[in-house]
Amino acid sequence: MTLTGQELETLAEVCGRDGVLVGAEACAPYARDWTGAFVGRPAAVVRPADTRTVAAVLAFCSARGLAVVPQGGRTGLVGAGAPADGEIVLSLERMRAVRRLDSEAGAVVVEAGATLAAVEEALADSGWRMPVDLASRGSAQVGGLLATAAGGMRHVRDGALAARVRGLEVVLGDGRVLSNLSTLEKNNTGYAWAQLFCGSEGTLGVITAAAIGLARRAAAARAAWLALARPDVLAEAVDLVQRAALGLVAAVEFVHPTALAALAEARPELRPPVGDAPLHLVVEVEAADAPAAAAAAERLAEEALARGLADDAAIAQSGREVRDLWQVREALPEAIGRLGRVRRYDVAVPVGRLVDLVEEVCAAVAARGLAARPVAFGHAAEGNVHLNAILGAGWEEAMDGVLDELVYGAVLARGGTISAEHGIGRLKRDRLALMRTPEEIAFMAALKAVCDPAGILSPGRLLPASALPPRLEAGEGAHGRPAGGPS
Ligand SMILES: Cc1cc2nc3c(=O)[nH]c(=O)nc-3n(C[C@H](O)[C@H](O)[C@H](O)COP(=O)(O)OP(=O)(O)OC[C@H]3O[C@@H](n4cnc5c(N)ncnc54)[C@H](O)[C@@H]3O)c2cc1C
Repeated sequence: MTLTGQELETLAEVCGRDGVLVGAEACAPYARDWTGAFVGRPAAVVRPADTRTVAAVLAFCSARGLAVVPQGGRTGLVGAGAPADGEIVLSLERMRAVRRLDSEAGAVVVEAGATLAAVEEALADSGWRMPVDLASRGSAQVGGLLATAAGGMRHVRDGALAARVRGLEVVLGDGRVLSNLSTLEKNNTGYAWAQLFCGSEGTLGVITAAAIGLARRAAAARAAWLALARPDVLAEAVDLVQRAALGLVAAVEFVHPTALAALAEARPELRPPVGDAPLHLVVEVEAADAPAAAAAAERLAEEALARGLADDAAIAQSGREVRDLWQVREALPEAIGRLGRVRRYDVAVPVGRLVDLVEEVCAAVAARGLAARPVAFGHAAEGNVHLNAILGAGWEEAMDGVLDELVYGAVLARGGTISAEHGIGRLKRDRLALMRTPEEIAFMAALKAVCDPAGILSPGRLLPASALPPRLEAGEGAHGRPAGGPS
């Protein structure tokens, strides 16, 4: 799809000249996502500065049948935020104000284009913090976090982000604006419609602002790095640390030796504080003061050692040591990308089945002679494993499907999910039916038709083609060309 001169002129009138970018060079930064696997040639990039402008853009695009992909910080890992050829990118980057901190209600009203790091900075001296944290915090935006229902490293402390959303301002596909930015903690007045947009991956509307319930900022954090005695004690160890530091646990992450071996190659300067182990557990605790945090970290480490669950432990005794320790864990997603092309799987199983899942996949990859190197790390408390495969020189395209079958088969056999936190996007769109019944998918498609009657928003993402009437399906309806796949 190419835009006519008149269409570009109208978009420039609506957004202002500097609000519209065209041409390969100007659009290049918006054309690809963090993974580099999804790249498109957008027809234009529009950068509205306020909600009214977003509404005008969408009303125009809807009337013309022009496909639009809302875009945040492009850190998504399932190909949902990168454009397909000919789509219009709607970037929220100019809408980044922290509109209001309501300290009494413990909530912030913030525009969708603010990065997580920027909101944290604005909250720094307030005693509050955002109820989500992830390694992409410097680029990931509030709109992207909500649209993907992001999880992250402190899910065990904060719970689901969607549950923290108190209100939303969202522009539907045809330009209608829904706005309720109430900061009230309790507001039981009908459908919780704001939550519908969490995990909608840009298919239902463009989030322009949100009222988010905050969490109290702890004065001190300490961390323990545990070298587990055996892989099969993971579930027991996760349970024990949470009981030993009851109410103080902020994160429980695991790192498999495959991940540390990859890190040693890609970033040899980053080393775990303990030696080799069959499995590593990283636990952060928070408390009202440093002695209480240190005592909790020491107690959980001592109990893990005393019960034979861990063979070794290191405690990060200062804020600086805690940051150093997290650097090792947080470097993993980027570090493995330095070693080759990566196929990323974000799956979850009951925590007691996590290690045998990793072992089964590693063994099957070797047995089938697939030119891939599995690497595993993730959010242990939720059984969420990033089971990535670094692809070797002998990798052939046909192996993609073999590996998918192998991983998803092993996950489903354990009662797990094919997406724990990254979403569906384009990467797993054809697999949605593994997790959702036909009735659920039909219900989602019906919601899509209500929110985006012309089907212009994020075509080819999340919902399988078979669920949508042709007029709502990318490439068969108004948009003229199919959404691209991984390049
Ligand atoms: C190093 C690294 C670590 C990560 N760690 C985690 C992790 O621990 N947990 C986790 O869950 N994810 C993680 N991610 C994935 C990613 O950071 C999250 O998915 C994040 O929420 C995406 O935000 P974004 O602003 O970059 O969105 P984008 O990538 O730009 O977009 C993602 C999706 O949201 C939609 N979208 C964006 N903004 C809006 C809006 N305003 N309105 C409607 N739809 C919108 C897009 O259309 C797309 O479907 C990680 C990524 C990286 C690179």
